[in-house]
Amino acid sequence: MNITVIGCGYLGAVHACAMAELGHHVVGVDVDRDKIEALSEGRAPFHEPGFTEILRRRLETGGLTFTTDFSAIAGARVHFIAVGTPQGPGGAADLTYVEGAIEAMKPYLGKCLNGDEVVVGKSTVPVGTAARLAPSVAAAGTLLVWNPEFLREGFAVEDTLQPDRMVYGLPVDSDDAERAKAVLDELYAPIIESGTPRLVMDYATAELVKISANAFLATKISFINAMASVCDAAGGDVTALARAIGMDARIGSRFLRAGIGFGGGCLPKDIRAFRARADELGVGEALNFLAEVDQINENARHQALDKARSMLGGSVSRARVAVLGTAFKPDSDDMRCSPGLALAAELADEGAHVVVTDPAAAPILVHDDDLPYDVAVDLEEALTAADLVLLATEWDQYTRCDPSWVADLVGRRNVIDGRNALDPEAWRNAGFAYAAVGSR
Ligand code: NAD
Repeated sequence: MNITVIGCGYLGAVHACAMAELGHHVVGVDVDRDKIEALSEGRAPFHEPGFTEILRRRLETGGLTFTTDFSAIAGARVHFIAVGTPQGPGGAADLTYVEGAIEAMKPYLGKCLNGDEVVVGKSTVPVGTAARLAPSVAAAGTLLVWNPEFLREGFAVEDTLQPDRMVYGLPVDSDDAERAKAVLDELYAPIIESGTPRLVMDYATAELVKISANAFLATKISFINAMASVCDAAGGDVTALARAIGMDARIGSRFLRAGIGFGGGCLPKDIRAFRARADELGVGEALNFLAEVDQINENARHQALDKARSMLGGSVSRARVAVLGTAFKPDSDDMRCSPGLALAAELADEGAHVVVTDPAAAPILVHDDDLPYDVAVDLEEALTAADLVLLATEWDQYTRCDPSWVADLVGRRNVIDGRNALDPEAWRNAGFAYAAVGSR
C-alpha cells in the first residue's frame, strides 16, 4: 500500500519505518528540513534503539523516502498524522500543528485511484477533535480514523510492530466505518494476524482511551511517590512496599518505582490537557485528582533536593554535584520535561556547581552555551571531584556502575538515588552516604 506519514518526530519517524518494514511504500513528510535531510541520509535525528537499523534497511530497499514537499502525498491510500500536540495556554493541547498539517494536506487528498483513501490520526488529541475535523477531511474526499499510538520511547520500534493492542476510532456512519476499518485491517494485516487485539470504537472513545491510559500511568507513578513521602516520614521503605503491593495481581508491579517523578513529551502535557478538556466539557471536578498527580510529581523532585541539602550539611551552595541522566528515561535522548534537568537547574540556582551527563542526551546539550550547569559527555569527567552524585535517569551504564570505581573519582562520597535503582548495600560498602526517595 502507498502510505504517507505527516510529522517525522519520535512517533512519526518510527511509524514510517515500521510501516515500510511491513512492506508498504512510505513517504514521510515533515516541515523540519534538517530532520528530513538526516532521515533521508539514514541518520536518526533522535536516539531510539533499533531505529537506525530499520531506517537504513528500508531506505536501501527504496520503500521509504522523506520529503518536505506535501505534493508527494498525492495518490497514497493512507495518510498518518503524527505531528506534535504540545501544551498550549492554560494547559490545553495546542492543536495548531494538527490543523496546519491537515490544511497542507488538503490540496493533495482524494487522489487515490486505488480504493478508499483514509486519513489516520495518531497524535494524542483532546476528545472531540476527530469529530470536529472529520467534515473537512470528508470534503477532501477521504475518511478519517483516529488510531492513537501507545508506543514507549526506548521500545518504540518493538511497540509499533508488536503493540499490546490497536484502537480504531471510526466514523459515525456505519458504511464509512466499515470501509475505513477494512483499509486499516489491510494495512496492519501482519500485526493483526500475529494475534494483536484490534479494538473498534467511536472517535470519542478512541481519543479517551489514549489520554486516560496516560492519566492512569501518571497516577500510578504519583501514587508510589506519595507513598515514598509517607515512608520517609514514618521510617518505612517504599521499595519493599512497592514490591509487596505489586505482587497483588490487581495492582501489578510496573510503574511502581518511586523516584524524582515522570517527565517526557507525553505524560505531563497529557494530564494537563485532559484536565483542560474536562473543564470545557463541564466535568472538570471528575479530574481534579490529576492536579494532585501533577503536584506530587513536582514534589518528588523537591524531596530529592531536600535530601541533597541535608547530605551536604544544609546547603548545596558551592558543592560540586554530578547529575547522572538528563533524558527523561533511559534509552532515549528526549529531554522534554526532564526531571533530571529540572533538578540540575534548581541545584545550580541554589549555588551548586552542577555537571550533568547522559549517554544519549549530553552530546545534544554540549552545543548549548546558555545553560546554568556544565555538561560532560563522559561519565568519568562528570564524577571527578563531585561532592554529591545524583542518579536522575536509570540508564544501565549508571545502575551497573561499580561504586568503588566511583569512590576513587569523587571528592566526597555522597549519593542520592533519584530512581531507587542502585544497590544501597554496594554503595554503602564502598563508603558512600546513600539516600533514596522513600527509603533508608
Ligand atoms: P515530535 O515533536 O518529536 O514530532 C512532531 C513532528 O511534527 C516534528 O518533527 C515537527 O517538525 C512535525 N510537524 C509539526 N507541524 C507539522 C506540519 N504541519 N506538517 C508536517 N510536520 C509537522 O513529537 P512526538 O513525540 O513524535 O509526538 C507526536 C504526537 O504523538 C504527539 O501528539 C504525542 O503526544 C503523540 N505520542 C507520542 C509518543 C512518544 O513516545 N513520543 C507516544 C505516543 C503518542
